[in-house]
Amino acid sequence: MSKRKIPTDESERRKQSRLHKLGTNTPHCATCGNSDWRVIEEHHPDSRKRDKLVVLLCANDHRIVTDEQKDHPPGVDGCDPFLLSVGNFLLGLADMFAIIIERLYEFGETLIARANECAPKPERRT
Ligand SMILES: [Zn+2]
Repeated sequence: MSKRKIPTDESERRKQSRLHKLGTNTPHCATCGNSDWRVIEEHHPDSRKRDKLVVLLCANDHRIVTDEQKDHPPGVDGCDPFLLSVGNFLLGLADMFAIIIERLYEFGETLIARANECAPKPERRT
């Protein structure tokens, strides 16, 4: 017997509302691929909430890169806002790439470990 809940009108309304806000019927986290619409959030890579450019991330990855943004160098009063925005955007992308690279190492190492488990065991010499 399945433990999966049957969607109610209310849960379907929440889902459609969320998908509408995210702007897609197939949301995915840009760094891990999670596609559960309930945990997908909009992230502003240049750290400005009013910027139109957003990337969809799962809640976990969103928290990680948002925390990393707090360590980006600040702009000073009177600085060039365009260059500051582009600089923050590039650092934001680098933060997301860092997560992706970390996962690529994990996946690659896991696949190699599984490949090695399939190798025939050496015969014992007596
Ligand atoms: Zn994710």
